[in-house]
Amino acid sequence: MSQPTKFVLDESKMPRHWYNIAADLPKPPPPVLHPGTQQPVGPDDLAPLFPIALIAQEVSTEREIEIPEPVREVFRLWRPSPLYRAHRLEKALGTPAKIYYKYEGVSPAGSHKPNTAVPQAWYNAQAGIKKLTTETGAGQWGSSLAFAGSLFGIDVTVFQVRVSYDQKPYRRALMETYGARCIASPSNETNAGRAILAQRPDHPGSLGIAISEAVEVAATHDDVKYSLGSVLNHVLMHQTIIGQEAMLQLEMAGDDPDVIVGCTGGGSNFAGIAFPFIGAQLRGGKKRRIVAVEPAACPSLTRGKYAYDFGDTAHMTPLVKMHTLGSTFTPPGFHAGGLRYHGMAPLVSHLLELDLIEAKAYQQKTVFDAGVQFARAEGIVPAPEANHAVKGAIDEALRCKAEGKSRTILFNLCGHGHFDMSAYQAYFADKLVDQDYDEAELAMALAGLPSVPA
Ligand SMILES: *Cc1c(COP(=O)(O)O)cnc(C)c1O
Repeated sequence: MSQPTKFVLDESKMPRHWYNIAADLPKPPPPVLHPGTQQPVGPDDLAPLFPIALIAQEVSTEREIEIPEPVREVFRLWRPSPLYRAHRLEKALGTPAKIYYKYEGVSPAGSHKPNTAVPQAWYNAQAGIKKLTTETGAGQWGSSLAFAGSLFGIDVTVFQVRVSYDQKPYRRALMETYGARCIASPSNETNAGRAILAQRPDHPGSLGIAISEAVEVAATHDDVKYSLGSVLNHVLMHQTIIGQEAMLQLEMAGDDPDVIVGCTGGGSNFAGIAFPFIGAQLRGGKKRRIVAVEPAACPSLTRGKYAYDFGDTAHMTPLVKMHTLGSTFTPPGFHAGGLRYHGMAPLVSHLLELDLIEAKAYQQKTVFDAGVQFARAEGIVPAPEANHAVKGAIDEALRCKAEGKSRTILFNLCGHGHFDMSAYQAYFADKLVDQDYDEAELAMALAGLPSVPA
């Protein structure tokens, strides 16, 4: 009999709770600080931006938080998502390792991001909110929130980084299909945008600038709230449905992973696959290696400083302690747009400080080599971001081969690459270049970190 390839969880087994790792941490992460007073922020400071239910989740230490039934009902459109055993990739690599991947590209927007967009839109709708603002780089988060907004009658305005707005017209069309309004950032609609355009009318934009614009609109309008697609505690928690499902599916497969791999931009899909397993370990379970993979051109975990920093360029957000390249750092233009952020989620940063996870960085050509090898073996074309996780998993499998050891590897295939074929075209035309970030710029951005008393 042939070995099973696809592990499908019955709908009735879809998790009913999100997992909150704050309940199991040996030491709490440092507090979030008010940018003006540098004192820990309270719920009132965040109330202009987020509905109270999400603020409560952000600071919660409850281990399990119930997923509302209307949210689970939407999730049933694509969840539980499949877990696959990569038999053909294993064979192509000649590895004794077993490789499993959880596939989040089956969502309507094609990535893991609707896992948090849907509950965020729902909690806002419950609070009577009719308008949300957000930012997007390549458009994956913007299209996910646009989709979620369309379900609950919320108008979504997306500030899209100017270069992506010009270069990725299909993601914009997708956002507009779901009814969202898309504005190229920097824009003339905010003080933050106007100040940047005054200095440089052709500014290509950045995620940090787009966040400033979206936050400004929410902070200055009573009827508008803001939504963030990564980094924050509640966003990471919403993604833990991925890892909880994977646990059940691996049980069906009769396996238990030794190594878990995820790519990291702001840290949410990595947290989603890894946190439930790390939690089990913290409660006395098996110790596993957990590997975060980031781009060498934007290496917040491997080269950034663990320090208090702003989440945006105009310094409107609270100060969070995280691995950061500095809020003024502009990474070179590589193809995994979802990984071009200067900071890392405070919870992921904290876990690295506690040695509970490892981090690795790769250049983009080797990452696309891995993605193409994966597509030819398994059929799915990964998003450029996901290729980082593919590369990390392949390296672990090759290490097993070299050591003559069989281990079980699990990685998160966080999205498909159907909107990123121009990046694959560039790869096949040999036009992808491995770009190093500018050391002088990094030094300058790090020197500009805000000083916060210990
Ligand atoms: C947004 C995105 C990422 C990066 O964000 P994380 O919060 O680190 O997960 C990675 N992959 C895909 C497919 C994305 O859409």
